[in-house]
Amino acid sequence: MPEILQLLGEALRPDQLSIDDATRDAYAHDDAEWAQFAPPLGVAFAESLTDVVAVVRAAAATGTPLVPRGAGTGLSGGANASADSIVLSLERMTRIVEIDEAERTATAEAGVLNDALRAAVAEHGLWYPPDPASSAISTIGGNVATNAGGLCCVKYGVTADAVIALTVVLADGQVARVGRKTAKGSTGYQLAQLLVGSEGTLGIVVEATVKLRPLAGREDRAIVGSFGSLQDAGRAVAAVSADGIIPAALELIDRTCLDAVAAWQQLDLPTGQAALLLAKVDEPGAAGEALAARVAAHFEAAGATSVARSVDAADADRLFLARRLAYPALERLGPVLTEDVCVPRGAVPEMLARIEAIAATHAVTIANIAHAGDGNLHPLIIAPEGDEAARARAKLAFDEIVDACRELGGTVTGEHGVGLLKLPGAAAELSPVVLGMHRALKDALDPQGILNPGKAFPG
Ligand SMILES: Cc1cc2nc3c(=O)[nH]c(=O)nc-3n(C[C@H](O)[C@H](O)[C@H](O)COP(=O)(O)OP(=O)(O)OC[C@H]3O[C@@H](n4cnc5c(N)ncnc54)[C@H](O)[C@@H]3O)c2cc1C
Repeated sequence: MPEILQLLGEALRPDQLSIDDATRDAYAHDDAEWAQFAPPLGVAFAESLTDVVAVVRAAAATGTPLVPRGAGTGLSGGANASADSIVLSLERMTRIVEIDEAERTATAEAGVLNDALRAAVAEHGLWYPPDPASSAISTIGGNVATNAGGLCCVKYGVTADAVIALTVVLADGQVARVGRKTAKGSTGYQLAQLLVGSEGTLGIVVEATVKLRPLAGREDRAIVGSFGSLQDAGRAVAAVSADGIIPAALELIDRTCLDAVAAWQQLDLPTGQAALLLAKVDEPGAAGEALAARVAAHFEAAGATSVARSVDAADADRLFLARRLAYPALERLGPVLTEDVCVPRGAVPEMLARIEAIAATHAVTIANIAHAGDGNLHPLIIAPEGDEAARARAKLAFDEIVDACRELGGTVTGEHGVGLLKLPGAAAELSPVVLGMHRALKDALDPQGILNPGKAFPG
């Protein structure tokens, strides 16, 4: 038996360490099976800070790669395991440690689901804005490690904007509490921010303290535009942005996604449109009414075939639900290779046109959902199960979309992280000097290279 399993067996209860094939297979990869993975040596289930320290110390003593894992909903292969690794699952650490109403902060263990935190703080009249479409199934630890975005991030910011402090276990097993609980702070380097988005390569996030907003004071109005072409929808996005409007959400969902959701769920969705734009403004009263009218006018000017304003709440909820269900609906059609490119908002129409052209060139199906208001597009490339030729074409299309995004001044990942899938794109995007900074930070904080090796940055 490898020494690491012996040490973990001594440190953890038997039900906290699994080495059976079924569990090792189940924890071998996240939602990015297109990236490489292999069943790990075993899966350790931490239930406390002490457990995390014990697992990290055992890994450090034996030089064993450690792959931290929340819920495994990642779309870049960041939680994919290697055959010599131990997966460290934080999913059992589900305690909400504190909700401070007066300071409007909450502290949660890494395994708390995003929706569970949102529900808990709502009972105190508070709101945690970052809302990935996976909010029902992804953990706060995973959200922190990937710097997750979401639907309302266009106005209210991504995970990095919410995190103010973290409890982290470093590669040698030391516990660090970085950040602050105050409204602002400039003492030392902003290490909490450095750890956000570090994909488990610099430390294991055990607890996060996040800023909250009051729940009250917002008044949702939806604006739904139907478009005959993706580019028209893209032009509407660029126009809304150029006008200085900051909607509370501005999402795009194309016909392939709507059809896939409709075929799966009884949601009575519009058919026959190339794309829908779902916008939300949340300013109360006349200001909200006026802003909704401006958004609607931009949709119309960009060529929308129809625009519905202040559709009733149930209608709007149904369409936003369809947006959230698009990814799992498409997965039913075959393995999905997920892009996460982010371009300047003004380049959205051109990027959508290039994606369509790339799909045609390589004869692959590419569906589109997008946090369009952020310029964050998710072309979803589908290759039928077992069709190796289609798989090869899908990979070519993936690379060309990355190249196109970079040509338009974009970045290869807006919110999912580099993981394994975007390593080539990151290699092209990050300069040698910047890559050197990454290496220096990694070497300083994890000199043995045991924390999620090979992820987050190339080299
Ligand atoms: C249907 C669907 C919709 C999605 N929508 C969105 C979206 O709108 N916005 C968005 O940003 N993402 C989205 N995602 C992607 C995914 O949900 C996010 O990346 C999420 O943050 C991952 O959380 P997780 O708990 O599943 O983490 P995992 O997948 O388990 O891990 C993700 C990464 O974080 C690391 N990690 C996990 N926990 C820790 C920890 N405690 N300490 C250190 N490192 C850790 C892992 O090693 C890995 O690198 C979606 C995914 C799906 C399946």
